[in-house]
Amino acid sequence: MARYVYWCPSCGTRIAPKNVPMLNRPYSCPACSAPLRVAVPHMGLVYGAGLLSTFVATYLAGLRGLLLVFASILGSPVAYLALYMVIGLIWPGKLELRPPTDFPLRFPNRPPD
Ligand SMILES: [Zn+2]
Repeated sequence: MARYVYWCPSCGTRIAPKNVPMLNRPYSCPACSAPLRVAVPHMGLVYGAGLLSTFVATYLAGLRGLLLVFASILGSPVAYLALYMVIGLIWPGKLELRPPTDFPLRFPNRPPD
């Protein structure tokens, strides 16, 4: 499991993989509270491969048209989780500092993080 270990880019603290949220939710370093996220190219690959693999799987299952599109989109979160593990073995994700404008849908009364 050593390949899944992350290091904080700000303070260098080792972060156990169970403390890093999947699917790139906002997250802060437990030691220095720096805003973190899994590096964008890594998550882009996971999302892209997840959508592609469910599309191919549903196509091979015989679905066509709108049903194919809906089944691909609905099935892709499951594929994301599986590919997150598999891709993590080949190309471990790194953490990077999350820019303050990372979350575009800010609610007016949302407390600052
Ligand atoms: Zn830190």
